[in-house]
Amino acid sequence: MTAQNTAVDLLRTLTGADPEGVWSAPGRVNLIGEHTDYNEGFVLPFAIPHRTYAAVSRRRDGRIRVASTFAETPVEAGIGELAALFPSHDGLRVPEWSAYPLGVAWALSAAANDASALPGLDIAIASDVPIGAGLSSSAAIEGATGAALNALWGLGLDAVALAQAGRKAENEAVGAPTGIMDQMSSMLGRADAATFLDCRTLRAESIPTGFAPAGLEVLVIDTRVEHAHATGGYRDRRAACERGAAIMGVPALRDLHPSDLPRAAELMDDATFRRVRHVVTEDQRVLDTVVALREHGPRAIGDLLIASHASMRDDFEISVPELDAAVDTALAAGAVGARMTGGGFGGAAIALVDRERVGAVSEAVGRAFADAGFAAPHTFTVTPAAGPRRDA
Ligand code: ADP
Ligand code: MG
Repeated sequence: MTAQNTAVDLLRTLTGADPEGVWSAPGRVNLIGEHTDYNEGFVLPFAIPHRTYAAVSRRRDGRIRVASTFAETPVEAGIGELAALFPSHDGLRVPEWSAYPLGVAWALSAAANDASALPGLDIAIASDVPIGAGLSSSAAIEGATGAALNALWGLGLDAVALAQAGRKAENEAVGAPTGIMDQMSSMLGRADAATFLDCRTLRAESIPTGFAPAGLEVLVIDTRVEHAHATGGYRDRRAACERGAAIMGVPALRDLHPSDLPRAAELMDDATFRRVRHVVTEDQRVLDTVVALREHGPRAIGDLLIASHASMRDDFEISVPELDAAVDTALAAGAVGARMTGGGFGGAAIALVDRERVGAVSEAVGRAFADAGFAAPHTFTVTPAAGPRRDA
């Protein structure tokens, strides 16, 4: 059964009737530009064909009920009570998954003229975006919910405003300190194009990727090692970046150029310096990738992908053995380029591969994982896909 039908069935179970509508939003992979978003730098992600669906109906009272395929029971709250649910993520008073859609409702209710006049909602969610794999199932659930509420609450918000509401939900309701990249890439997705985003100005430009005409596919290798944004090393890396920017006397690492790195090396401890060097060189690699795509096409970006992975492995130290094995094996099996994608500490890698070599690369990665005693990876190809839409 498709995720869309699953969402509709779940809504019927919840309300006994068909939904008023179904909206969806895609997950994403990041082609290049990792941990640059919260440093106000550059990213180049694209939306993928995997989507999260929200089947939604309005209610007469001002209450919101959310249900998802991976929770036994729906979660319910009054629109006016939402703010009190998320005082901070330590004090989260609802199951974490429900803080994504309820957080979006909370963020969007602030955009209404009179929040007390908003109708309540029943929302049922199902997804075919792999969860916790670095493919941003979080932005997909935020985008699907945001698109539905924008329509049913008559808010008339644009894609950027909906992306900002998703980020607010993720940061302040869930308590995951993520940047704006995921939401923007989901909301601004276009077929056969990546989104070149300046995370300081939120200026975005679609860059044609040209994978298909060049005979290339993007192979996703989901290691199935689950990452956890709200905890773990992500906060620590953010703190190191803020420390580095403060030492250099700039508002954000975005304001540094690779030529500033020798001075940075003198001013900070080695670990902080390597975090800074990753971000500064990664920003430059995004700019170089955009130029390479425009001037020479996708075959010209392989070395930039490879350099990006090395920087994340050695300088930012966010790779794991499974991701390194995926990248090394894909390259050895003939991939044009490969890198881990997403926040790190697990999740997925991407490999840019000649169409006729996709099978061989997948098999080689599967064999390498088996030999190393890792769980079998999920491998599948993705093409750059469109952003949110109404499906029914
Ligand atoms: P990623 O975005 O890489 O998939 P995150 O940790 O950012 O990983 O987001 C995953 C979390 O988002 C899940 O643990 C869950 O809380 C929430 N989520 C995503 N998709 C759904 C869904 N279909 N139903 C309920 N919650 C979801
Ligand atoms: Mg996420």
